[in-house]
Amino acid sequence: MTKHSHCVIFTDLDGTLLDHDSYSWAPAAAAIGRIKQLHIPLIAISSKTLAELSFLNDRDDIFDGLIGENGGVICLGDQLEHPGPTTKTIDGARNAIARAVSGPLAGFRTSSPAVIARETGLAPSDAARAAQRHCSDPLIWAPTETDIATAQSIAGEFGLKLVKGGRFHTLCGPTDKGKAMDKMIEMLIGIGRLPSPPAKPATIALGDSANDATMLAAADFPVQIPQKHGGAILPLIDDTKLLIAPEPGPSGWNSAINQLLDQIFNARVQAH
Ligand SMILES: [Mg+2]
Repeated sequence: MTKHSHCVIFTDLDGTLLDHDSYSWAPAAAAIGRIKQLHIPLIAISSKTLAELSFLNDRDDIFDGLIGENGGVICLGDQLEHPGPTTKTIDGARNAIARAVSGPLAGFRTSSPAVIARETGLAPSDAARAAQRHCSDPLIWAPTETDIATAQSIAGEFGLKLVKGGRFHTLCGPTDKGKAMDKMIEMLIGIGRLPSPPAKPATIALGDSANDATMLAAADFPVQIPQKHGGAILPLIDDTKLLIAPEPGPSGWNSAINQLLDQIFNARVQAH
């Protein structure tokens, strides 16, 4: 008997399945075709909003499920789960921070698409989708070190965190990508896409950044995609199972998935 009778794949988008510069997933098309042929659920898991993920999937139709805002909102078909904090909590914390810091402060949730477009370089229509947030809010401000410490302390009082991403400080809940994977597996079992326990699906997870570490740590087959403009590759998790893809972005994604599917399915053939 094989340990795993089914498989599910979770992938980060920016810098992982999508090229860092062109946002294209074309070099991964062969592996995605194989995943579809094998009826393996493919789940997007990203810091993007559900509106941004849905827009991408309406165009390309590659994902079976969507996990947005770093695990705070989970969508499978018409089912929506919301493990992250409420918008009321996020808005309450942001307003309290705005009153306590030295300069003006706004969030994506309360800014116009024109302002978000200016801050991010996104087109206004993309900025409008980035503003549709369920459980996190990037702050638009010019903080001093004291302001950051004050904001962190107020976020904590609301049960939230202030996390510095590439560019913004984002107010968010204590959800993470690893916990969201478990919830999505439960939902996939619920709709019959994965078998019920004690069957255990093999989980593959692919990511390129520190905020993917909980997802990689939770997977049976973690894959680190090297960063296109990064220097030396430092492993995101300390685990001998970690596979580091041979190339950055969708080309590395394609190679790693093909290698793992060969490994998982050949092992099954040998076991029978
Ligand atoms: Mg990424």
